[in-house]
Amino acid sequence: MPDELTPARHAPRRLLVTGGAGFIGSNFVRHMLASDPSVRIVTLDALTYAGRLENLGSAMADPRHSFHRGDICDAASVRELLRGHSIDTVVHFAAESHVDRSIVGPAPFVTTNLVGTFTLLEAARDVWAERPPAGVRFHHVSTDEVFGSLGEHDAAFSEATPYAPSSPYSASKAGSDHLVRAYYHTYGLPVTGTNCSNNYGPCQHPEKFIPTVIRSCLAGRRIPVYGTGRNVRDWLYVEDHCRAVEQVIRSGALGQIYLVGARNEQRNLDIARLLCRLLAEALGQTAERYLELIELVVDRPGHDFRYAIDPSRIEREVGWRPREGFETGLRKTVEWYLANRAFLEAPG
Ligand code: NAD
Repeated sequence: MPDELTPARHAPRRLLVTGGAGFIGSNFVRHMLASDPSVRIVTLDALTYAGRLENLGSAMADPRHSFHRGDICDAASVRELLRGHSIDTVVHFAAESHVDRSIVGPAPFVTTNLVGTFTLLEAARDVWAERPPAGVRFHHVSTDEVFGSLGEHDAAFSEATPYAPSSPYSASKAGSDHLVRAYYHTYGLPVTGTNCSNNYGPCQHPEKFIPTVIRSCLAGRRIPVYGTGRNVRDWLYVEDHCRAVEQVIRSGALGQIYLVGARNEQRNLDIARLLCRLLAEALGQTAERYLELIELVVDRPGHDFRYAIDPSRIEREVGWRPREGFETGLRKTVEWYLANRAFLEAPG
């Protein structure tokens, strides 16, 4: 059993990316293929309502990438993929990810986020049993929501913040975090983890907040904002998150989780207003046309008031820094959705 956190360097060569047809996973697959010519990637995704092959874009034509449709809960296929492709790095994004859906129907969250993560960990433990730990890595992608809610003046979350999840989504992610850590401490599985703040950028499912605002503006429908609109989230551009995951896989300490965020706290209402202005600018309209669509709606049950991340550890120990500014990132996001309007109308 490892008794201390060991800084380690790892060169990922053959990656299994779970959930690679979703929002962040697809951005990560394209990011890795562009950043390192030596990698081979197998994407494993069940293509639930949230996954789309089109999100993988250029990766689908890249000979270094292959797509496998399958469920992370299917132990036999996961083992077969790990063995058959000599995988040395698992990057685990696959999850049920929408808090509102977890309130209406928590069962798939428990199945995919807990049982699915357990299934992957067991497969890695089994298949990698004969390999030196230095040559393999299991990276778990998680969320700041596991820490619960902050008050207006509380200090930001750090790696020392106790877990206090509020929703079935965040509880299931907290459970998967604990399982990953337990596999490090109990079996010595070489794991790393990242707990990231809210992401935005291309390919985010239309049910999420930023695409919802854009879609509502384009359709001339009301823009729903929960409660008073004063809830605060800490926003990070998806490409910055992808670089953080890559850097932690390459040089993070084993058994360590890193909090990832851009020190970019924003109130929901302010984001809705800024998006209205950016869309109006892009489409040559007046901002008022969109601003008047904003409507405060009945709050989500158990809605966490504020999330904020202190990213000092990943900055100090891994050398990661966000590159994208919030307004420039949102502008890129708006441009992407305007160029891909059909994406906003997809089922689900
Ligand atoms: P997403 O919902 O866009 O994508 C999830 C992907 O997982 C989809 O492609 C879906 O088909 C796939 N999937 C779901 N169940 C599966 C199963 N049983 N087997 C195989 N594939 C399955 O999610 P996202 O926003 O890209 O989030 C990815 C990860 O990042 C999640 O683990 C999430 O908890 C975490 N995260 C997200 C954010 C955010 O702001 N979106 C922030 C921090 C952490």
